[in-house]
Amino acid sequence: MPTELQGMFRQPPVSMFGSTCTFEECHFALFGVPFDGTSTYRRGSRYAPTELRRVSENVETYSFRFRMAVEEIPLCDMGDLTRLGDAEEVVEAVSEVCREVNQAGKVPVAVGGEHTLTFGAVSALKPDAVVCMDAHMDMRDEYMGVKLSHATFMRRLTETVEASVFMVGIRAVCREELEYASERGIQVVTSMDVREMGVKKASSKLLETLSDADSVYVSIDLDVLDPAYAPAVGNPEAEGLETWVLLELLSSILDGRVVGLDLCEYAPPYDDGSTAVQALKLLYESLIAVEAGRCSGR
Ligand code: MN
Ligand code: MN
Repeated sequence: MPTELQGMFRQPPVSMFGSTCTFEECHFALFGVPFDGTSTYRRGSRYAPTELRRVSENVETYSFRFRMAVEEIPLCDMGDLTRLGDAEEVVEAVSEVCREVNQAGKVPVAVGGEHTLTFGAVSALKPDAVVCMDAHMDMRDEYMGVKLSHATFMRRLTETVEASVFMVGIRAVCREELEYASERGIQVVTSMDVREMGVKKASSKLLETLSDADSVYVSIDLDVLDPAYAPAVGNPEAEGLETWVLLELLSSILDGRVVGLDLCEYAPPYDDGSTAVQALKLLYESLIAVEAGRCSGR
C-alpha cells in the first residue's frame, strides 16, 4: 500500500469475498466508509461494510453474464477508513484514498456508508462521466440547513467537478432539483423511463451517451432498487428498479473505462438478510463487468 495511505484504515476480521490479494497485486482496491453522520431518516449505513463482508462469506459469486467468479479477480480489501469525524473530513479522506489508488494504477471501490462519499471520490478521479444509480437526485442546495450531506452532495459535485452526469432510476425529487438539473444539462432517466424503454433500449441509450467518455465513475445508491428487493436502505422509495434490470444496465455500461465505483446507503439494522445479498450481487457483478471489459480491451 502507498505510504500515504498506511494508517488510514482499520483491518476487518474478514475481507470482502474472502479476498487475499495484496494491494500491489490488485486491480481493484476496495475500502469501507462506515459513516452515516448526515443520514436523515433511517440510520445505520455505518454498519454496512462489516455486515457485507460477513454475508459475503455465505454467497456464491459466479457471474453467468461474464462466466467469471469474483475470486478470479485481483481484488484487495484495504479495510475501513478511520477518519470519519464529519462529512467534510470523510469527503477529504475518500478523496485522498482515491487519488493515491488511482495514481498506483488501480480502481478504487468504496463501500458506504452514506452516499456523500461519492463527492470525494469523483473530486479526486475527475472522470469524463459520472453515472449515478439512485431513486433520489441528492441535488438540493441545502437540506435542513446543511450544505454538505447525502441529500445535497450531487449539487456540490456538479458545482465543482467538470463531468457529464447521468442519473438513472430517479423517482423521488423536489422541483428545485429538477430545475437545477435541467439548467445544468444533467441527464435524468427515471425508473418509469427505464420501464417504458425496456432494458435493452435503456442500456444502448446509456452506452450511446457515454460513447465520448474515456473515463467513467459509477455510483450505486442501493435505494435505486425497489423496496420489494432492497428494503434495508436509509430512504426507501416505491416504484424502483427490479434487481435483474439494474444488473443488466450495469453489465452493459461497465467496462474498462471505469476509474472508480461505489455502493452506498445499505442500512443493516433494517435487514432480514435479503438486502445484503442484493447489495453483494450488485457489487460482484459490477466488479466482474469492469474486469471483463479490461481483459477484452473494451
Ligand atoms: Mn437515494
Ligand atoms: Mn443517494
